[in-house]
Amino acid sequence: MRSIRLSFGDTAVINDLDLDAGPGEIICLLGPSGCGKTTTLRVLAGLERPDSGSVEIDGQVVCDQTVEVAPESRHIGYLFQDYALFPHLTVAQNVGFGIEGQANAAHEVRALLDRVQMGRFAQAMPHTLSGGQQQRVALARALARKPKLLLLDEPFSGLDTALKIQLRESTHSLLKEIGTSAVIVTHDAEEAMFMADRIALMRDGRIVQLGTPAELYNQPVDEFTARFLGEVI
Ligand code: ATP
Repeated sequence: MRSIRLSFGDTAVINDLDLDAGPGEIICLLGPSGCGKTTTLRVLAGLERPDSGSVEIDGQVVCDQTVEVAPESRHIGYLFQDYALFPHLTVAQNVGFGIEGQANAAHEVRALLDRVQMGRFAQAMPHTLSGGQQQRVALARALARKPKLLLLDEPFSGLDTALKIQLRESTHSLLKEIGTSAVIVTHDAEEAMFMADRIALMRDGRIVQLGTPAELYNQPVDEFTARFLGEVI
């Protein structure tokens, strides 16, 4: 993302934001409520058009002053905060949605469900699953189209602490195994410290510090950063 600016009415929500993610890198957008994390993710996904700036994914400009590539053509996967599974489709149909016609689609769906330990729920309906199980199905669905970039918005919110820690670990190893670049939105400093290769700490629509978890923890640029990360013991 280069020089992204976005306002809603008179309110500037993203202020000249620059961000890069390398191949296979996991970036966490961390910051307090309202600082612009979800809006940044929506700009990457093509769900929100910035007032200015450009976005490039896998070498292709997907958004600038003249170009606007539709979300479905951006080679991204998006894991929404509420998982947003299709309620009328089975688990397998949810994961296979959009890749049905492709050779090996059924095999891919089975393999993905096995990877997230949901193979035996292939024929279940989403409402019969727990929150953690729905999260894993949503992750499999987001990965089914082999995205170049995976976007996850508060992927573990609403889950109890033990499950959160378990899913954080399994999601991290899955992302590293597959090697997809990912941007994860969270307001949980501990989660970002565990998941991220680099953390982008945001405040008021800006990135105030970008670095590895150790860099942010050991050399915070200001008191805001120090306080935010100081909550992690
Ligand atoms: P949270 O952690 O609470 O989800 P966030 O950091 O993800 O917060 P955003 O959801 O990106 O923050 O919102 C940033 C600001 O933009 C907020 O003040 C929000 O009220 C505002 N905002 C977001 N979407 C819209 C919209 N469609 N219209 C008007 N204001 C909006």
